[in-house]
Amino acid sequence: MEARFTRTDVVVVGGGMTGLIAAGYLARAGVAVTLFEKASNLGGRAATRTSDGYRFNRGIHALYTGGAASSVFQELGISYRYGSPKETFVLRQGRFHILPSGPLELLRSDFLSTLDKLELGRLFAVLPRLDARALARLSVQEWLQSGVRRPAVRQLLAALAHTFVYSASLDLVSAEVFVDKLQRSLAHPVHYVDGGWQTLVDALRQVAERAGARLASGTHVEAIEHQAGRVRGVRLRDGRLVEASAVIVATSPREAVKLVDDGSFSPLREAVDSLVPARLACLDVALRQLPASRYTIVQDLERPRFLTTQSIYSRVAPEGGALVYTFKQLDLSRPTDPRDDERDLEDLLDTALPGWRDLLIRRFYLPRIEAVGALPMASSGGFAGRPGPRVPGLDNLYLAGDWVGPEGFLVDASAASARQAARLVLRETAFSREAVATATAML
Ligand SMILES: Cc1cc2nc3c(=O)[nH]c(=O)nc-3n(C[C@H](O)[C@H](O)[C@H](O)COP(=O)(O)OP(=O)(O)OC[C@H]3O[C@@H](n4cnc5c(N)ncnc54)[C@H](O)[C@@H]3O)c2cc1C
Repeated sequence: MEARFTRTDVVVVGGGMTGLIAAGYLARAGVAVTLFEKASNLGGRAATRTSDGYRFNRGIHALYTGGAASSVFQELGISYRYGSPKETFVLRQGRFHILPSGPLELLRSDFLSTLDKLELGRLFAVLPRLDARALARLSVQEWLQSGVRRPAVRQLLAALAHTFVYSASLDLVSAEVFVDKLQRSLAHPVHYVDGGWQTLVDALRQVAERAGARLASGTHVEAIEHQAGRVRGVRLRDGRLVEASAVIVATSPREAVKLVDDGSFSPLREAVDSLVPARLACLDVALRQLPASRYTIVQDLERPRFLTTQSIYSRVAPEGGALVYTFKQLDLSRPTDPRDDERDLEDLLDTALPGWRDLLIRRFYLPRIEAVGALPMASSGGFAGRPGPRVPGLDNLYLAGDWVGPEGFLVDASAASARQAARLVLRETAFSREAVATATAML
């Protein structure tokens, strides 16, 4: 008969990228770590589904390099193959133009006047020196209104901002997010990962398992067990108790609240209630072949829509086939009908890649997928306004995810907070003597 009670040094709840990174660091430090994932497969939002040989991420996914995720992958020895997108077009009044993403494209661009080009050129020059953190309490819209004079330049930057911050609510999202990401993307390439993000998930799983972590998928954690301000472990849905010296919760914010709150004690509820997730409408299509069109990466200037044909740059489709991602950034203050959003995205495909409907093999529409657990808002001070890794009133419980901690956006926030949570666990928990020695050496 299976034991009703087991023990491990550290439990990690959630087997997405965040949980896998935390488990990898802890296992490499010699700590006995057990990760529980409720789904049958690891990966969470970074999982890739294969259909007819096409590798579909769960909505558009690009790895922005030069941030915490890159440094974590390097530290954990994760390598992968990728391609980087090249020519991007902007769509304006039904016509396509080259997106000026550097001095050369700026000269070639035909939809900006000379004065527009001068202002954009000046902005490119000062951008690397801007202190993004100092803009945390300004919204993207306020920053654009105060810092950009020419309407065409403002329109271009606002369109890019929609795509970079994953939201059409530029009046609410902190300018820190946009400026930080703009700076990074001018200095570091974007990676489209061969095989989709599952490649990263599989590599992280291997690192953790090789170092001795136990990764249990198909295992739902029902609650965090705690008493007198200390966590004792977790209770699984099948009733088993797993005792641990520390627990890292690497789920969505709302799931974290459910796990910790027990009716009488709600340490997280207040912090999480104020978080607003970024939701997207994503239409992903597999095509037998790419229609004859140059416009394979398109940023719409007039509506918050973006399209990219990732299969041109990375191995995600069978020979000759094409995998195209489109997404619409939603506005928190102006709800839309998901069917209209889908039509908007089909319309973008019709405009950029005419004939795609006749070549369609498979399509996935994700009308309201949660892309980021918490949008960094100007009103809460940007990145620094997200909850920290500690849970008030519970000493040995830690949080990690793309809604936690003061560093980075998207998977950069996941990676930074996962590493930070692992470090705190190692620093603050009394493990066996050997584990402490290895952990101390690692810090
Ligand atoms: C459409 C879309 C586009 C995106 N684009 C990008 C991009 O371009 N660039 C980028 O950097 N990031 C992007 N992201 C974000 C990125 O996918 C995430 O930041 C990253 O995958 C890290 O996720 P996570 O591990 O924190 O959370 P998740 O992947 O959500 O993992 C949490 C896991 O916890 C599990 N879980 C929850 N509750 C329990 C429980 N009670 N017991 C056990 N397990 C539980 C869930 O099943 C899940 O697997 C995108 C996300 C989406 C959805």
